[in-house]
Amino acid sequence: MAIAETNSPQQEKVSSEASAGEKKRWTLSDFDIGKPLGRGKFGHVYLAREKRADPYVLLEQSNHIVALKVLFKSQLQQSQVEHQLRREVEIQSHLRHPNILRLYGYFYDQKRVYLILEYAAKGELYKELQKCKYFSERRSATYVASLARALIYCHGKHVIHRDIKPENLLIGAQGELKIADFGWSVHTFNRRRTMCGTLDYLPPEMVESLEHDASVDIWSLGVLCYEFLYGVPPFEAKEHSDTYRRIVQVDLKFPPKPIVSSAAKDLISQMLVKDSSQRLPLHKLLEHPWVVQNADPSGIYRA
Ligand code: AMP
Repeated sequence: MAIAETNSPQQEKVSSEASAGEKKRWTLSDFDIGKPLGRGKFGHVYLAREKRADPYVLLEQSNHIVALKVLFKSQLQQSQVEHQLRREVEIQSHLRHPNILRLYGYFYDQKRVYLILEYAAKGELYKELQKCKYFSERRSATYVASLARALIYCHGKHVIHRDIKPENLLIGAQGELKIADFGWSVHTFNRRRTMCGTLDYLPPEMVESLEHDASVDIWSLGVLCYEFLYGVPPFEAKEHSDTYRRIVQVDLKFPPKPIVSSAAKDLISQMLVKDSSQRLPLHKLLEHPWVVQNADPSGIYRA
């Protein structure tokens, strides 16, 4: 099985050792397991510390503190998501960006698969949003700019995320946003027709199961920007079929409360465009006056 990767000089050493057939294989005994961090659909996530494993020292960057996601093979098989998990691991382990959660490596035993993940100390963005109801323009713009930078990086590597939503975002120790879940991401070598993800964040071409490309992520980021500022996604409806209709018609309304600047509304309107080729490109988003005036250049939101 593949080993974890870092950019450290050690990695080169380990890689060359690996190519010489001396691969470091992770096992559970390489970690001290700490408190549970949360529970997902297929297992649990624990805080963990890598025991000093010289001469490998693979997780130097993380100070050896990681989040260990433990997935039960039986549940993965039952839900037929093994393929999806393989793709997620393959894609996420090759991405290196401050706003993308690192996947350092993985290992497995008879019953479980273990993912060694970067620890996001401030937890789920979703909970923060629930707590605050909605975010300030400064906070929203800082997050939107960080996500745009992360997505520009992904798209440059021919990866589209396709499932940008608050539940898939974590917050690091400094308050920086981390895209955490690549379960629905794909390499974009062929245009995809698969229908996936939660309806609320999907663009018209995906709810209609048409071909789509990287511009789906621009739409989802527009939905997210709206939700940051208003506390609810723009096309929310009681019935699935109504959400579907509202997305396809781009039935975008800006409620009077909370008060949101016209610059923010302008940006959202340029992202939530039915014709995917007309959506504001992500590099242009970073130059939009609302982003320039509100986003903290450090990408860190300080409360
Ligand atoms: P998941 O199975 O990815 O949905 O994870 C379940 C829960 O564990 C999440 O909702 C988070 O609260 C927590 N969690 C998952 N990954 C991490 C991480 N890398 N750092 C901190 N908490 C995490």
